[in-house]
Amino acid sequence: MDLMEYQGKQLYRRLGIPTTPEGRIAATPDEAERAAREAGGPVVVKAQVLTGGRGKAGGVKLASDPVRAREAAERILGLDIKGHAVEQVLIEPASAIAEEYYLSILHDRVSKGYKVICSVEGGVDIEEVNRSRPERVCKRDIDPTKGLDDATATQIVTQAGFAEEIRPDVAAFILGLYSGFVACDATLFEVNPLVLTQDSQIVALDAKVSIDDNALFRQPDLAGMNRRGSGDSLEARAKAQGLQYVKLEGDVGVLGNGAGLVMATLDVVAQAGGRPANFLDVGGGADAGKMAASLALVLSDKRVRSVLVNIFGGITRGDLVAEGVLGALGKLGDLPQKLVVRLDGTNADQGRRILREAAHPSIVPAEKMLDAARQAVAFAKESQ
Ligand code: GDP
Ligand code: MN
Repeated sequence: MDLMEYQGKQLYRRLGIPTTPEGRIAATPDEAERAAREAGGPVVVKAQVLTGGRGKAGGVKLASDPVRAREAAERILGLDIKGHAVEQVLIEPASAIAEEYYLSILHDRVSKGYKVICSVEGGVDIEEVNRSRPERVCKRDIDPTKGLDDATATQIVTQAGFAEEIRPDVAAFILGLYSGFVACDATLFEVNPLVLTQDSQIVALDAKVSIDDNALFRQPDLAGMNRRGSGDSLEARAKAQGLQYVKLEGDVGVLGNGAGLVMATLDVVAQAGGRPANFLDVGGGADAGKMAASLALVLSDKRVRSVLVNIFGGITRGDLVAEGVLGALGKLGDLPQKLVVRLDGTNADQGRRILREAAHPSIVPAEKMLDAARQAVAFAKESQ
């Protein structure tokens, strides 16, 4: 789960990590003007989208008074930043920046641990700094079972090249960020820039936060955070129903049991010359209720012109899946789309017989995967 900057900063404040003074969210120029008036002095108006590079895209503007804040909000709201529409801006008291640095903590799959990355060159594209001046970027693997101690934090700031007088403050910031990162099951805490303000404070000016979805059960405060703008709403609905759903660009709905099988199904749809509309893993024990919920979800995508249901029975029994599909169609009513249902594995014969005998006008039973995909793709093309 990714957080917007303002949510990331809320979290930092809760975790005791120093950040910029609290701002307000605005969805209209009016609200932005009001928020700036309440803030008092100069403010910064910042697009809230789940992508970086807002500054370069014109999504971050300083405003010296409420009227200028309103004008900035007018320009920023509705911007498209790398495919993300800006629906909200954060209005924050402007910070007086002396220097910008870079700091992040992340899960590192290579070392199977955490990694701290730190540089005195921040506010800019860290990948670029890493390419052209790798010696300016300090990367340190941290063993999660041992944690991060004072001595290591001091080594990091020294190696990164911080001026001696601010090393203790930056090291303290890193230690605080690390404790917070661990406490909330984060996979990424990126602070770019970490700034030294003109009154010598070290604070997070930006916050990019990702939380491990698998840990949300023990992070109820985070799970409850407003997910607005964090992806396709069908994905949010699927998640609430315990289904694994990812929206794709095509028009052939795909539904299967097991992530591997669903991925293979996407491949055969492509092989048959079609484009999948989604990835949907019904998971184990695809009973009638789950089938109904899954089909309803796939069909609620208006771009879906046909559906390929691909179930391999193991513990899941083909006859129950067939009944589930029929039950689901009973609830959904008449459909404009055809459903090609390929059953294999436990009780597949029985399942296919049940489907044939039901002779539902929308259902086409199939035995082989590629053949099923070809039919589904042909139906999608016919209905264009
Ligand atoms: P990003 O471009 O999406 O990473 O957005 P940031 O929050 O990192 O802001 C981009 C840049 O805008 C920063 O590196 C700063 O140089 C500048 N900036 C953002 N907020 C302020 C502020 O309060 N005061 C000043 N002076 N500059 C700011
Ligand atoms: Mn940034």
